[in-house]
Amino acid sequence: MKLERVLVVGGGMAGLHTVRSLREKGFPGAVTFLGEEQHAPYDRPPLSKAVLAGNGRGTVEKVEELAFAFDFADSGVECRFGERAVGWTPGVVTTDTGVELPYDRLIVATGSTPIQLGFGETLRTYEDSVRLRERITGGRRIAIVGAGWIGAEVATAARNAGTEVVIHEARSRPLALVFPAAVGEAMAGWYAEAGADLKCSDPVTGPPPGADHTLVAVGARPDTRWLGEAFHRAKDGSLLVSEHLETNVPGVFAVGDVAAYRSVRYGGRHIRVEHWDNALRGPQALVPNVLEGVGAAVYDPVPYFWSEQFGRMVQYVGHHTSADRMVLRGDLAAPTWSVCWLDPHARLTAVLAVGRPRDLAQGRRLVTAGAVMDAARVADAAAALTAAVL
Ligand SMILES: Cc1cc2nc3c(=O)[nH]c(=O)nc-3n(C[C@H](O)[C@H](O)[C@H](O)COP(=O)(O)OP(=O)(O)OC[C@H]3O[C@@H](n4cnc5c(N)ncnc54)[C@H](O)[C@@H]3O)c2cc1C
Repeated sequence: MKLERVLVVGGGMAGLHTVRSLREKGFPGAVTFLGEEQHAPYDRPPLSKAVLAGNGRGTVEKVEELAFAFDFADSGVECRFGERAVGWTPGVVTTDTGVELPYDRLIVATGSTPIQLGFGETLRTYEDSVRLRERITGGRRIAIVGAGWIGAEVATAARNAGTEVVIHEARSRPLALVFPAAVGEAMAGWYAEAGADLKCSDPVTGPPPGADHTLVAVGARPDTRWLGEAFHRAKDGSLLVSEHLETNVPGVFAVGDVAAYRSVRYGGRHIRVEHWDNALRGPQALVPNVLEGVGAAVYDPVPYFWSEQFGRMVQYVGHHTSADRMVLRGDLAAPTWSVCWLDPHARLTAVLAVGRPRDLAQGRRLVTAGAVMDAARVADAAAALTAAVL
């Protein structure tokens, strides 16, 4: 297959790092970068943190302040921002302006779209965040549907702005699908401490009464319908890709939030990771497969993400299942603590660190290495995690 034209669809972080890496690795051919948003790619995590802070507290006033440093003109990349891909046939992507873009390799990096409930607003773009900042700095009452990562961060910003917050969570505690009860209950305490009214086991079907504004934060799903029927997808719409990030259609790859990649590390299951680190690292493995041929690099990271909520830095690395044993380091009621998970062979599978970055850094290395741990020593929060390796 000739390789003269690469088309990257999706002007977010994964798309940007793909374009950058293509040039860094010396690809001399044509690179076209298509993105629905009007702006050059920018960093999304500040949208629920610094951008919302407003009123002089770390204010971000322009989307350009969040942009990734990259000179598109100097790198000879054709940017088509403000244009959406709407159709695919082998070798050609059609956009909403009616233009047909031919390619030799296609990279789909279209991220995900917030799940809508038919009421309220959602948070994904810079414009969404600026609008939300106006709502929460007006000193009004805001309802948040969903006590997940974004719900917690927006609740933090709203309370800091002195706004009344009611959070409606369908399950019995925050992040019930991710963490065991003890962890979720400790997190529920953070809401109470901040004066946010967390209502659990409270599924809502319409705008909560009494709120001036409602934010719906119940997750996001990839919208890949424009690609048509030829592609294998997971139930959530994400594109199923191999460990080389190639879809079932030869020459078409996917990376970032939109992709569910086959993880050799996790038993060959397809995993979709909706976090910043995945959008950063995926392109590094993707580009060798595009330029040198499929098989040149395997993508198999230990997933990592962070969240900043209620004055705490929350970091998680790895992947645990309900079969893993949870070992607590410290007191869940204290300002800082960690939780480790050990598999039935006492291998460290995951670490959740709250205000304990050292545990996270060491845990990341140990999880990657598949270190076998002494559970009693893991529980000793005064000793380094590395001291618990058997
Ligand atoms: C508010 C917020 C806070 C976050 N905070 C954190 C955090 O603290 N820690 C963390 O680890 N992660 C965080 N994340 C997640 C992280 O930002 C994402 O994982 C990352 O942005 C994914 O990058 P991506 O390039 O795959 O997708 P995106 O960033 O979603 O970019 C995809 C782009 O493709 C465009 N697009 C979609 N469809 C089309 C189409 N058909 N044609 C053309 N363009 C299209 C979209 O408009 C978008 O600009 C946060 C996300 C949000 C929304």
